[in-house]
Amino acid sequence: MHEIVINLHMHTVYSDGTGTHKDIAQAAIKAELDAVIVTDHNVLVQGVEGFYRVGRSRLLLLVGQEVHDQDRDPQKNHLLVFNANRDLSTLADDPQSLINGVNEAGGLSFLAHPRDLANSAFNEPDISWEAWDVHSFTGLELWNGLSELKTVLHTKLNGVFYAFLPQFIAHHPMLETLQRWDDLVSSGRRVVAVGGSDAHAMHMHMGPLHRVIFPYDFHFRTVNTHVFIPEPLSGDVPTDKRMIYEALAQGRCFVGYDLPASTRGFTFKGRGLEQSVIMGEEIPSKGGVTLQAHLPKPAEIRLLKDGKIIGIWKDSQACAYSASEPGVYRVEAWRNYLGLKRGWIFSNPIYVR
Ligand SMILES: [Zn+2]
Ligand SMILES: [Zn+2]
Repeated sequence: MHEIVINLHMHTVYSDGTGTHKDIAQAAIKAELDAVIVTDHNVLVQGVEGFYRVGRSRLLLLVGQEVHDQDRDPQKNHLLVFNANRDLSTLADDPQSLINGVNEAGGLSFLAHPRDLANSAFNEPDISWEAWDVHSFTGLELWNGLSELKTVLHTKLNGVFYAFLPQFIAHHPMLETLQRWDDLVSSGRRVVAVGGSDAHAMHMHMGPLHRVIFPYDFHFRTVNTHVFIPEPLSGDVPTDKRMIYEALAQGRCFVGYDLPASTRGFTFKGRGLEQSVIMGEEIPSKGGVTLQAHLPKPAEIRLLKDGKIIGIWKDSQACAYSASEPGVYRVEAWRNYLGLKRGWIFSNPIYVR
């Protein structure tokens, strides 16, 4: 399996972002990403997918959309839609019909910023996911860069601080979202976690101050989704697109906060009597399963089963655990950065059945 780093969930001038697809591609190449998935609000932009090049570097830009009901007040239940190949925003008024429509079109759906609280200092409403009775969606956005920003901006002055020092913003995925995800996968469902930036490259004006806050290339160095595909990217758009979406559908991916240190090289594997698997895959419990995680640098490793911590390895680069019982096993890694212990890696589970 080959690891590629992608950033997903971002906006251009086609909705409320300030950059073009070309700007995004150039910023992503600068941040050394392999691919991005651009998701404007309620529009599927045609004709921009493909490889973009700067010098010898190239980047695959894919296009999905972020769909929500614009007549709803407040405008909750945002859904990221990938690979549906048609505009599904006409189904926005009913989240389950929308998810069904995505599935019928052969696409993938991820609940965007499941917990996204109101912010009174900036007059932003709560736009969390609320329709928790839905089923048959692919996964959820475990960590969203913008929702987290809303939780730290208590005053306008705070806004200025974080506009100039955005590296202080990201701490970890919202604990309620982690809990929600654990509850879903522990109940026997397959729910894939991805990390999204929700990059807009917003312009901030306050008196004489004018600054692009959270520019695209900053986002592309922070919360990324690392995806495992069977072959390196080939340069053929349909082939590469299929490999990426198959991996995301399966959950062969992890969320990496790449700013404190690159998370490239992280692995989480399971070896049983007859087969070996990686994150996102299933393996029989019969005869026991050896779970192994390996990190690119030492950190605090936590192994969780059905949402509960069953092992902690401090300042370690690897861990192994012999799982004799069925369960949903996943790994987290935490690292000190700018004076705080922050979430660094969140794997998708290995499902021991
Ligand atoms: Zn949204
Ligand atoms: Zn968004």
